[in-house]
Amino acid sequence: MLSRDEIDALFPADLPEVEYWEQHYPPRELADGAEVTRLGPSPTGFIHIGGIYAAMIDVDRSRRTDGVYVLRIEDTDRAREVEGAIEQFERAFAYFGVSPDEDDVRPGGYGPYAQSARERIYHSYARELMRRGRAYPCFATSEQLQEQTKVQQAQGVPSGYWGKWAMWRDASDDDVREQLAAGTPWVVRFRAPDDAIGSRARFVDEIRGPLEHDANRNDTVILKSSATSPRLPTYHFAHVVDDHLMRITLVIRGEEWISSVPVHLQLFEALELPQVRYAHIAPLMKQIPGGKRKLSKRKDPEASVDFYVGEGFPAPAMLHYLRGLANSRLADMPLERALAEPILLDECGVAGPLVDLAKLRDISGDHIATLTGEQIAAELRTWALRFDESLVAVLDDNRELLLQALAIERDGVDNPRKDLRTWSEFREVYGYFFDELFTPVDGPADERLAPIGLEPDAIRTFAEAFRAAYQPLADSAEWFDQLRAVAAEHGFAGSVKEFKQNRDQFVGSIREASQIVRVALTGSTRSPDLGQVAAVLGADRVLARLDAVVGSRTTA
Ligand code: GLU
Repeated sequence: MLSRDEIDALFPADLPEVEYWEQHYPPRELADGAEVTRLGPSPTGFIHIGGIYAAMIDVDRSRRTDGVYVLRIEDTDRAREVEGAIEQFERAFAYFGVSPDEDDVRPGGYGPYAQSARERIYHSYARELMRRGRAYPCFATSEQLQEQTKVQQAQGVPSGYWGKWAMWRDASDDDVREQLAAGTPWVVRFRAPDDAIGSRARFVDEIRGPLEHDANRNDTVILKSSATSPRLPTYHFAHVVDDHLMRITLVIRGEEWISSVPVHLQLFEALELPQVRYAHIAPLMKQIPGGKRKLSKRKDPEASVDFYVGEGFPAPAMLHYLRGLANSRLADMPLERALAEPILLDECGVAGPLVDLAKLRDISGDHIATLTGEQIAAELRTWALRFDESLVAVLDDNRELLLQALAIERDGVDNPRKDLRTWSEFREVYGYFFDELFTPVDGPADERLAPIGLEPDAIRTFAEAFRAAYQPLADSAEWFDQLRAVAAEHGFAGSVKEFKQNRDQFVGSIREASQIVRVALTGSTRSPDLGQVAAVLGADRVLARLDAVVGSRTTA
């Protein structure tokens, strides 16, 4: 092993001792049981819904316990960085109400919070491990390592840098000095404990309970090549150093990291640091024919946060849904209670929960149904400012009409309408109230009138008669009585039953007559109470739209 001086000479002379960092980032003064959680997204892509799901659990555990939730940017893979990723994180967290308590924007004394800015910290700890004989320089080239893997495969032994295959583990000091003197690039490898081969690592996962795994035997790289600048750590080393110095108590992360816990435990032990607690969460899944698979960033649009924000799913509905995926107990509760109840780690499933968009839409519709017209108008406008600019002008120019339209079967009723499930559905569901968003039917043969099943002539005759008799009555029942009267005068049976009993005596029934008016006013065979719709539209619009059915006059 190299002497201490030789090891120190490999690092800057002013590199602080680990004690310095220990004092610089002292244990947090928090009450017993307070959890410090963190999310460590890499800016190699945009945050996806699984990231929000994990953040939500982090936020829940820390806020419930008066702890702290930290955001750490894991940017050790600089080549794969995507521009704008960090800004997208910030926007997504804000939308879902899971912004961190501490990060580079809201520093809390444990920063910097981007790994690329923590180079010296990692170097202090790597040097310390080298001084203790628990890490060493390795000069193997990637060609040598690839070659070795082939030999291992041919011999049927586990591949990796371990035991006698760890070519620089027990190299002579002179060989090491020679490489250093020649300027050969080197990485720092952790020296796995000698007794690792054949032993087991045991730990308790807060979600899964006691787990056991083969102990790590690989001499894992902890500091990347000396030929790179900044010279950054690998994930394993950064996790141990950062989660210790940021005084994280509970590491909540994806289950793909379970198999790395053995090396992490060895690193904590070698640095004589207290271990963090782990909770490994199951990934969000998607139903596919014959089974399920992980939601895929590449294949599934619904993996992206932007999908939900762009469609206009309100954040509380999303959070209600995601909380239900974490703890199914919460799915059955009304939204407010589900948001107030804690997420319990031991109730998180081990099998990945399915993301079901139909279910989410229902939850979202239920949530929007609890909002007032004013609230809907405000949230819709906020959404439209970003995603549907031309809608903003329509909403602003017709504010009274909008509120009246939203009030139909919403204000003062026990069971408000659940017709609007996302903000992007607004045009489709409420668009007909606004002349700017509605295309009147084009004469009695318009295809939107076809489902009624009457000849265009019959449709025109009735529309014309109804228009001629039209009174803008405010009372919905009275309004409908006038429709009934005109229908009776023009050969429509008063009920479907009456019509069916004497088909040849009638043109159709009151149902067909009212459908003519409904399609004329709304463009659809389904709508809220027609009298109320007509009252909100106002007589001018009603007459113009009836004219459009007749097809021979221009609009009023
Ligand atoms: N940067 C890691 C990732 O994006 C974070 C894993 C962790 O939470 O420790 O997968």
